[in-house]
Amino acid sequence: MRPRLSALLDHLWEQAVRTPQRFVVLSFAAAAVLLLVISAHGLVVLRDHEVQTLQQTQQLQVAGISSVLNVETERLRSVRNFAQHLIRLQMGPHAVEADPPLQAAYAHRNDDLWQLPAPEGDAVLLGVGPRMLEGMDSFYRRDEDLLPGLYVARGISHLLSAEPVNPLVTRKLMYVSSNGFFVAYPPVPPARTAAVLRRVDDAGFLREHLPHNNPDRTLRWQMMPAGDGSGDVYLTVSLPVYLHAQFRGVAISGISQRSLDAYLTNTTRKGVRSFLIDIDGRLVGASTRDVRSVEKFAAAVPSASGEATPHEMFRRGSGTLHLADGSRLMFQRIGSTNLMLVDYFSATDLLLRTASHLSVVLAASALSLAVLLWVTLQGFRKLFSHYQARGEALRELAETDALTGLANRRVFEARFAVEHSHSLREKTPMSMLMIDIDRFKRINDNWGHASGDRVLKTLADVMRATVRAIDVPARIGGEEFAVLLPRTSIEEATQTAERLRKILGQTVCGPAADAADMGDIRFTVSIGVSDLGADGTDNLDTMLMVADRRLYAAKNAGRNRVVSDDRVPEPAGDSAPAPAPTA
Ligand code: GH3
Ligand code: MG
Ligand code: MG
Repeated sequence: MRPRLSALLDHLWEQAVRTPQRFVVLSFAAAAVLLLVISAHGLVVLRDHEVQTLQQTQQLQVAGISSVLNVETERLRSVRNFAQHLIRLQMGPHAVEADPPLQAAYAHRNDDLWQLPAPEGDAVLLGVGPRMLEGMDSFYRRDEDLLPGLYVARGISHLLSAEPVNPLVTRKLMYVSSNGFFVAYPPVPPARTAAVLRRVDDAGFLREHLPHNNPDRTLRWQMMPAGDGSGDVYLTVSLPVYLHAQFRGVAISGISQRSLDAYLTNTTRKGVRSFLIDIDGRLVGASTRDVRSVEKFAAAVPSASGEATPHEMFRRGSGTLHLADGSRLMFQRIGSTNLMLVDYFSATDLLLRTASHLSVVLAASALSLAVLLWVTLQGFRKLFSHYQARGEALRELAETDALTGLANRRVFEARFAVEHSHSLREKTPMSMLMIDIDRFKRINDNWGHASGDRVLKTLADVMRATVRAIDVPARIGGEEFAVLLPRTSIEEATQTAERLRKILGQTVCGPAADAADMGDIRFTVSIGVSDLGADGTDNLDTMLMVADRRLYAAKNAGRNRVVSDDRVPEPAGDSAPAPAPTA
């Protein structure tokens, strides 16, 4: 296992060294993936935190709504208790004598509409006669109860109007007597008296609190349209008013649905929809739109139907439901009422809420990673090309001759090995030239060493220009040069040598600066030619040896000539003119 791993690592490093740029890009890609994974994890943690925050917000909302409802029910209870207290007082031995205004109102009791005037701003007592009560089954007139009833209603009217007004909550409070009159605050226009009583009858407020329908005399919650043409709906709570076992009427308190909507709209967090629902799934309030009439929760949140029925939520009291579409329902019952607050948010809303916290961190990380990648790549490219150039220079230094730029002996040998095997495989000829400057010592002596170097350079330039691209001209000694001619017979090689000799014979080389007054340098060369396969020449040494032998023969035969076989060349005396200063 271990050697395998280390082999893999070695392989990876090898790849990295070979393609360093790709290595850097891949490393950064890996870092970016890591960053993404960490960010995704952070997102999940933040999302859970976000859900907790939403839960806490909901708890606060529930506490807020519950305190408003508590105030309402307490208000209602105090009205009811006060009413019962007044009735008891009036019925008892210390009953107060009915005063003139009460007597006056009582005198009109059989009019279609009668009232008990009240001080400015107080709740006015309004009533209708028996003719108007016809058809309203839940009212019944008992004349002996009427005078004490008026007394009670007048007492309550002070209590209602003295109620502190909460600017955030629009609400109504009223006491309705089963005798067919009521006091309400805010006051109702007298002309609407019969209509109000009819609506109380229709809504069943009295009927529902009759002893046999509400034996425990408990609170009743219900929704009811305002009936004043405003289109508003009221969440009402009602309590029966009794004396001993006798049912006398009902106290009703209502909170405008608009103020519940406004409360939810103001307190619900962005991206969340809050609904106040009752046990039958009716919408009592909503944060996202004005609920003008009683609607069903299932219609407002279609994806919840089936999975999250109101009965199921009420059974659990509080909790969170994950819907099939990824959205969530967070619900909590309002105290012991039949009301429940339900928060609905989609997966996208939750993600957006969460991402809004993370986005700055995420964008900054991504940006810095990109900048870092760019800077690193730029630096890396510079560094890489620098070392590449250095390597190139070192290679040239190792492979070429510094003075002439020709291949050195080491490279010549290497190239020979390659071309030699090609020749053997492809059965093609191969030849070699050995070149030596005639009387070079004299050039050095007369013009100086620097000018001698210029001659060597000129010779190299001419060689490079004269041979083919596949040929390998090289400096293999001080002033000894060779050319390897692959795929070349000895005849062709001899022709090349001749051409080279002639060109060099016509080449003029300027002197170095230290011999500027000495005039141009003319020189000649002698060349020995050998080829592969002849005379047992099958390696570099033997080919060099044969070429050298023929070069020596050329020198002996008078220089400035090419020798390509071992016949003794015609000695023509020294045909090379001795290089000498012309000036
Ligand atoms: P020959 O015609 O017989 O070849 O006569 P020669 O004078 O050229 O004799 P030889 O080939 O033996 O001469 C070699 C001389 O080349 C000796 C040395 O001073 C000179 N030489 C060798 N390397 C360099 C070099 O790099 N620069 C210069 N300027 N001279 C060199
Ligand atoms: Mg020599
Ligand atoms: Mg020489």
